[in-house]
Amino acid sequence: MRAAVLHEIGQEKLEVLDDVEAVGFGPGKVRIRVRATGLCHSDVSAMSGVLPQPAPFVPGHEGAGEVLDVGDGVTGLARGQRVLLCWLPACGSCPSCRRGQTQLCLAGFMNAGTPNFRRPGGDVFGFAGTGTFTEEVVVDAGCAVPIPDDVPFDIAALIGCGVTTGLGAAINTAGVEAGSSVAVIGCGGVGISAIQGARLQGAAQIVAVDPVESRREAALRFGATEAVAPEALADAKQRITGGEGFDYVFEVVGRSATARTAYETTRRGGTLCVVGAGALDDFLQLNMFELFFDEKRILPSMYGGGDVLRSYERAIALWRAGRIDLESLITHRVPLAGVNEALEQMRTGAALRTCIEI
Ligand SMILES: [Zn+2]
Ligand SMILES: [Zn+2]
Repeated sequence: MRAAVLHEIGQEKLEVLDDVEAVGFGPGKVRIRVRATGLCHSDVSAMSGVLPQPAPFVPGHEGAGEVLDVGDGVTGLARGQRVLLCWLPACGSCPSCRRGQTQLCLAGFMNAGTPNFRRPGGDVFGFAGTGTFTEEVVVDAGCAVPIPDDVPFDIAALIGCGVTTGLGAAINTAGVEAGSSVAVIGCGGVGISAIQGARLQGAAQIVAVDPVESRREAALRFGATEAVAPEALADAKQRITGGEGFDYVFEVVGRSATARTAYETTRRGGTLCVVGAGALDDFLQLNMFELFFDEKRILPSMYGGGDVLRSYERAIALWRAGRIDLESLITHRVPLAGVNEALEQMRTGAALRTCIEI
């Protein structure tokens, strides 16, 4: 079958190959025919080596499709069932799961060293234990989450990572208060979802910050009250908050430089919510005096910062009710053979989300 493979970390392009096989099917596993997958920034970060990932590998972790085959012992899933792929399946029994913080369950990472695919040339891994830039993938049953029939595959795929991450940061982690001021730094699919979350929570001002003009324009359509380039952020802070800083600032880039800017843009006693996934060797510097004296709350948000399945259900409910716009998040569509176009659209910032239709 066909899949897009990165041969070595650091390469910029994927090779779409026809000789890939999805492996590992057996008890507790399901085989999925992937129908749609989004390109998330983490895929690019794994390709470049910013996020740890063994190679060769099939990127993609934001996907949806149909169940082709169900292994022994799997309950609640049947052939033909429509599912979204969860790259962080909850084991249900570890201390994090028992606390309701399934986004912190590490069980899914236990499979990270096990190849999901094979080629005549050898083993191929799947990114984050999934790997969705492929026609078929075998995953743990916990990674296959049933979706209602009225949720299209492309929408379900977005809920599988970007939408859940951004919405959850605003709703679960930061708990944006009605009437508050918000800045969101980085306005791709996740940042736009954070903007939609802040709008749902009733924020009075939402300032979108991004160097790409088309993204700033998009942010205004999704609920930002103002959109500025990074160099205009200090001015916006002065104008909108009287220089005090925003009640909430979301860092959706994953770099220490933008996190530092975000920290300085947060008011004393306000909340800096770190959503971007960054590198192991990129350190955020804070001095001990400001940390104590300014009492800014630094809240990292992993995969929406709350129970993952509950976050999916909420996103579906909000989408159905017309309270969030997910259709317009998909600005570009390509077939699997066009996956390198999708990467280019991500790198240039042209796309909010490119949906790869398989
Ligand atoms: Zn667990
Ligand atoms: Zn993602």
